[in-house]
Amino acid sequence: MRTIGLLGGMSWESSIEYERLINEGVRAALGGVASADLIIRSYNFAAIEELQAAGNWGAAGELLAADAKRLETSGADVVVLCTNTMHVVAPAIEAAISVPFLHLADTTATAIVDQGLSTVALLGTRYTMEQDFYRGRLVSHGLNVLVPDEPDLTLVHDVIYDELVQGVINPESKASYLEVIGRMIDRGAQGVIAGCTEIELLVSADDVDVPYFPTTLLHAQAAVSFALADT
Ligand code: GLU
Repeated sequence: MRTIGLLGGMSWESSIEYERLINEGVRAALGGVASADLIIRSYNFAAIEELQAAGNWGAAGELLAADAKRLETSGADVVVLCTNTMHVVAPAIEAAISVPFLHLADTTATAIVDQGLSTVALLGTRYTMEQDFYRGRLVSHGLNVLVPDEPDLTLVHDVIYDELVQGVINPESKASYLEVIGRMIDRGAQGVIAGCTEIELLVSADDVDVPYFPTTLLHAQAAVSFALADT
């Protein structure tokens, strides 16, 4: 079994889901007492959030790239970045390592294309919804990507930073998210991407009337497939 290197803590509320889902996937495949072979770098999210708010993506990229290299040097056969937003610095990470990097937007796009959908709603942080690093990657897979209009876009972003990354699961925010999703479906979305790793802690596939793409689960499954490909 190959060793998975996780860059996590962004936030740890979702990183522990990665760890759980990856371990469960390995146990389901191998049985018995088998579990995943992991190396985890978990950040103080306050330091990361400070760089995000300042728009200091260069420093963030240097930090994550250096730690990705450390994961590789420590024995990781693949690097998994446990956040959609910080894929803004994926090019810096990919340039720093020689092992594969499982890009979250590729994993997500593959799942959507496999279901034959072409137009999807993307919910995530403001950075993920507004910048091109993630949407553009989805578009390169042939997808048409819709993001919420204001004030919905700000609501989706604020719930992530004011609640979900702080461990707060608020039923009122869930209701607000489902209203936003309803408006996206009215605009033509055939599916919805939970494009922030904490959103699936708030909204599950059972809550949504169209196909739902929970990025933490999809990414964890891709990591398991990679880890087990040599067994
Ligand atoms: N985990 C979130 C994401 O998937 C947001 C926190 C962060 O900015 O990393 O985008």
